Amino acid sequence: MSEGKLHAQHRILVIAPNWIGDAVMAQPLLQLLKLEHPAVPVDVLAPGWVAPVLRAMPEVDTVLETPFKHGALQLRERWRYAQLLRQRGYTSAYVLPNTLKFALLPWMAGIKKRVGYKGESRYGLINVMHHDDKAAPRAMVPFYAALAFPPSEQAPQDLPRPHLQVSAGQIAVTMQAMGLQQDQPLVCFAPGAEFGNAKRWPVTHFSELAKTVWATDPQAQIVLLGSPKDRDVCQQIQSACPQVHQLAGKTSLDQALALIAASHAMVSNDSGLLHIASALNIPVIAIYGPTDPDHAPPFSDVAHSLSLRLACAPCKQRECPLLHHDCMNKLDSQMVWQPLQNILVTASRRVPA
Ligand code: SF4
Repeated sequence: MSEGKLHAQHRILVIAPNWIGDAVMAQPLLQLLKLEHPAVPVDVLAPGWVAPVLRAMPEVDTVLETPFKHGALQLRERWRYAQLLRQRGYTSAYVLPNTLKFALLPWMAGIKKRVGYKGESRYGLINVMHHDDKAAPRAMVPFYAALAFPPSEQAPQDLPRPHLQVSAGQIAVTMQAMGLQQDQPLVCFAPGAEFGNAKRWPVTHFSELAKTVWATDPQAQIVLLGSPKDRDVCQQIQSACPQVHQLAGKTSLDQALALIAASHAMVSNDSGLLHIASALNIPVIAIYGPTDPDHAPPFSDVAHSLSLRLACAPCKQRECPLLHHDCMNKLDSQMVWQPLQNILVTASRRVPA
């Protein structure tokens, strides 16, 4: 960041990624921008389903929700929206999605400095262009954080970690709305995975884990979180364990954030909720099967990544091409219970019963 500080009347626009997990991992970029330009407001443009994550970032001044349909070009709508952005007086834009259509917006809005990766050959639209080394393994935090530095400069190794915050008031209101007790242990399970079935830890394993938790602490409240798409899987867990609080598809993302922030621990597939827990510094056990645990690991000292690291992994397929799904089936509930038990014991010492 050697280009000199921007003046206070400047305003920065960050166009956020479209996925929850990626949005969380873009947060260190915001920390770096705010550190370099403390007096400059930083606004973020994000789709509605990601916006609550951005609202939990203290560096963000205003979250603007994109009015566009997912995957649609909508050129005329983009032009109109760009004129609204023009009125807000942005002087720099950081375009995190790699697609052409998102790079069009700051160009149409006349924003002078437009930072991003080459992506879809976005010459001219992006005028501070970074180049991604596709051959090298890439972690998402340094990928986004590099945009805070000139393309010629190497980003430092010791980058800030993603950090989100939720107020105590928001937690209290949400716990009450969901019929949960603040003085009893709360454990969140996130059994969904937007990407596909291969990333899902089996329903039977989640159910066994829930029963093991209750065998140790009958007071524990186990909550299932996820999107409406995860409802079927969560209802299967609920059929096996009627005491679970099945909230997948029943909470807003703001409420899910509050519940995760209130929890003693979380057990999650490789999904966006995993990264939210990690950024809230909640002890999270992340279960990896067909994906690489080193690609987008949880960034906290209280996180555990579990992977059998089979020879066939990471295949990165939505469905198991070998049909046996051993990367998840053979990672049994006891393997998750070991770290979870330690977390709950530590939490019970910390939180009055
Ligand atoms: S091929 Fe291997 S890593 Fe991929 S889903 Fe099947 S068991 Fe898992």
